[in-house]
Amino acid sequence: MHLIWFRNDLRLHDHAALWHAAQSRQCLALVILSPEQWQLHQDAPIKIDFYLRRLKILKQQLEALNIPLLILNIPLWKDISEQLLALCQQFQISTVHCNIETGLNEQQRDQAVEQLLQQHQISCEYYEDRTLFPLGSIRNQSQQPYQVFTAFKKKCYERLLIDVPSCYPDIEIQPKQAIDISQFDLNAFAQNYQQETANQYWPVEDKHVFELLNEFIADRLKDYKTDRDFPAIDGTSQLSPYLNIGILSIRECVQTLFTSSQGYFQLEDVGQQTWLDELLWREFYQHTLHDFPKVSRHQPFKENTKVIEWRDAPEDLTAWQQGRTGIPIVDAGMRQLLATGWMHNRVRMITAMFLSKNLLIDWRLGEAWFMQHLIDGDLAANNGGWQWCASTGMDAAPYFRIFNPVNQSQRFDPNGDYIREWVPELAHLDAKTIHEPYAKNPDLGLDYPKPIVDLKSSRARAIEVFKQI
Ligand code: FAD
Repeated sequence: MHLIWFRNDLRLHDHAALWHAAQSRQCLALVILSPEQWQLHQDAPIKIDFYLRRLKILKQQLEALNIPLLILNIPLWKDISEQLLALCQQFQISTVHCNIETGLNEQQRDQAVEQLLQQHQISCEYYEDRTLFPLGSIRNQSQQPYQVFTAFKKKCYERLLIDVPSCYPDIEIQPKQAIDISQFDLNAFAQNYQQETANQYWPVEDKHVFELLNEFIADRLKDYKTDRDFPAIDGTSQLSPYLNIGILSIRECVQTLFTSSQGYFQLEDVGQQTWLDELLWREFYQHTLHDFPKVSRHQPFKENTKVIEWRDAPEDLTAWQQGRTGIPIVDAGMRQLLATGWMHNRVRMITAMFLSKNLLIDWRLGEAWFMQHLIDGDLAANNGGWQWCASTGMDAAPYFRIFNPVNQSQRFDPNGDYIREWVPELAHLDAKTIHEPYAKNPDLGLDYPKPIVDLKSSRARAIEVFKQI
């Protein structure tokens, strides 16, 4: 008997480990729920709810293929190997199949499992699935990892010219098995994590996800290069939550992107290229996490930034977290995050730079807050994004290039529509006033805070701090 262990890859289509396991025509599926580990990793309740809603669907889909799904509750990963061994012995499992995960704790968990199972003649097969190219395979001429995105991207283009990774075929219905597995009460477990509005924003059915992908490629890709920076426009795909828990694979995205060229790498327009480049940013951060695991240990990539003395300013931090900074675009973003579990990329950059530069608050506090609230929270992308904004990361924003949030707001939300949606107390203001309500009239009677920091002097302060190092 073979075991397919699902982790952040909750789908049946284009699934490396499932495809290999199913070739045995005798397989059992496993999902392990680890609530204490989720807490240690600061996974957002909305992300857990999303995962559990999807798991219910996966269970039904597996049943239709005659693959029984076993769900275990093992609160901490350190306890997985022993329990997995017992399970393998109970069901006479000869091989465990799973897709590789990038994080350090994930890799340590998998090494411990493999070591123990091998001692009992049970083999573990790990497959590359989360990234377009195998981790550790994109190397420069000295066989070292790239530290600059543009060079990394160029190498990826070269690889795509040779071969665009194709999707795994769907698996066939398996022979019926007479296995008696104890039923885990998933509904009762999921109730602890239920989020009222999550389903409304983030449905989990395959149909929805493929509609989103196909509709994006067909209708919005052509204007993506410009529209993607305007948070009031639905200009991006909003597929990040689906990629992160593997409802959708990266190969499916890229194959759909190249449908018009029959799956061959051929950039036909700027929209196509820009979206591919964004997918490659995801790839870059996944490879970075694999090559430089220190970034997942709360360490900056740039060693010299370790000495920065970040401000200890709990009140400012709370104002930022709650969307009460007095800078409308920042507050709109932070409130969008609290309400929906998602924030537009341009606004993620504005809010992250505001925290780490204007407020000079440790980027790790912002990284944690995002992780605790994002439905698409992903260690690699979140850490990469934060270290880019804080100028502590690989190929990060130069420290002196600090976004002015008001200028960004005027440029990317010119009518103030995004602000109006998320900061309703400013909704009546005109398109000029809304970006900086108190600029012309400090006595404007609004139920909205004055800016908690002066943008000009705080910018100068941040530049000075970075100059010192
Ligand atoms: P699209 O514009 O449609 O892009 C397609 C896909 O490419 C995305 O779904 C995502 O998988 C990937 N992608 C796009 N931009 C980036 C990027 N800059 N870095 C890495 N991957 C990218 N993304 C996450 O998936 N999880 C996170 O936890 C996360 N945290 C971030 C924190 C900060 C401070 C910043 C600046 C960015 C963060 N991002 C994160 C990247 C980016 O904001 C989101 O991937 C994007 O907003 C998702 O929206 P979309 O699916 O509509 O993207």
